[in-house]
Amino acid sequence: MVTAVVGANWGDEGKGKITDMLSEEADIIVRFQGGANAGHTIMNDYGKFALHTLPSGVFYSHTTSVIGNGVALNIPVLIKEIESIVAQGVPKPNILVSDRAQIVMPYHILFDEYEEERLGKASFGSTKSGIAPFYSDKYAKVGFQVSELFDEEYIKEKIERVIAQKNVILEHLYHKPAIDKDELFDTLMEYRDMIEPYVCDVSTYLWESEQSGKRILLEGQLGTLKDPDHGIYPMVTSSSTLAGYGAIGAGIPPYLIKKVVTVVKAYSSAVGAGAFVSEILDEETAEELRKHGGSAGEYGATTGRPRRMGWFDCVATRYGCRLQGTTDVAFTVLDVLGYLDEIPVCVGYEVDGKVTKDFPVTRLLEKAKPVLKTLPGWKCDISNIREYDKLPENCRKYIEFIQDEIGFNISMVSNGPRREDIIYV
Ligand code: GDP
Repeated sequence: MVTAVVGANWGDEGKGKITDMLSEEADIIVRFQGGANAGHTIMNDYGKFALHTLPSGVFYSHTTSVIGNGVALNIPVLIKEIESIVAQGVPKPNILVSDRAQIVMPYHILFDEYEEERLGKASFGSTKSGIAPFYSDKYAKVGFQVSELFDEEYIKEKIERVIAQKNVILEHLYHKPAIDKDELFDTLMEYRDMIEPYVCDVSTYLWESEQSGKRILLEGQLGTLKDPDHGIYPMVTSSSTLAGYGAIGAGIPPYLIKKVVTVVKAYSSAVGAGAFVSEILDEETAEELRKHGGSAGEYGATTGRPRRMGWFDCVATRYGCRLQGTTDVAFTVLDVLGYLDEIPVCVGYEVDGKVTKDFPVTRLLEKAKPVLKTLPGWKCDISNIREYDKLPENCRKYIEFIQDEIGFNISMVSNGPRREDIIYV
């Protein structure tokens, strides 16, 4: 059986915590898209960790962590991450990396930086991890697969072919130093030695494991609204964030994904530029929520950037859950709202004088104004409550109101960053 854990919003919904928690009942945890550009923050008995490439199941010794073919694989970042969790006392995890995964090249990171610099004010707010240049190259068919690292002659020839075009752009568009082919070859040989112990035919491994009854978790990065097709294009990420893409980025049949746990945060936050209809525009109110937010406040796990804050958005979340194919909603970070007297919720968008509950295309989204409804707060700390019925009445009303608006079943409520901070509804 395969379960996907994905986000309904702009990312940072708390997927890391939910995956870490569900991993207890899983055998294999797979990353299927994205790269080291976003991060999950996880708190458990070993400490606090910001993971960028490793799946959130690495803390259990009974699980195998898999980097699927759909991931933008930054080899030195992966190796550093493994070393750093082991240095913090976590038992060395079992890790497999797809022989079909493609490699983030040193020049992808440079191109990301140079392009953001060139665009100036019109930049995408990239984390400069090389993700957009990486996926561009993948689909332009000039990317490097892990399996290719093991054929030295082939790699030498390919490097020459690929950098010929890159060097023209470096010289004439960015006015930066050219790529040296010998240096690049040496770097790739170092990458080969680093990754060799982990390389695996992942789709065969997953197929055989599933057939023998193993439980597989697919772990998504970011959320629906950052999907390149269904999100707020062009302010999106470069690989699909949808559970459906899990089949492709892991190499498994789509019909195996029986459960889609969509993680939805009790308020909104977003990183980078782009339309954000329910954004809190009053900076004092936003900063108060940001400080209370998550376990570490709402500051990016990879970049430390303050996130943009907003009220819960029923329009975006209903859409986000539908596109994911949600079977269960995990409603997270609810404890944070305990300080508020009243909690506004966005229940509709006003676009050109008409109110809609359907999430529009980006050009219309940019014109949308939020229709807010205010719900009463519960004004207490709910973080130690373990039973749904013990939650304050206004808190249950908030959950039930949102469940009705989004039209998907909330089966888990997360009220703290740790594994045990969970209420099954
Ligand atoms: P992800 O990328 O979706 O995993 O999201 P983040 O890494 O940004 O996680 C959100 C933050 O909230 C992390 O610091 C988590 O430790 C924390 N967190 C997750 N769930 C909860 C919760 O229910 N309550 C609180 N207070 N913090 C949470």
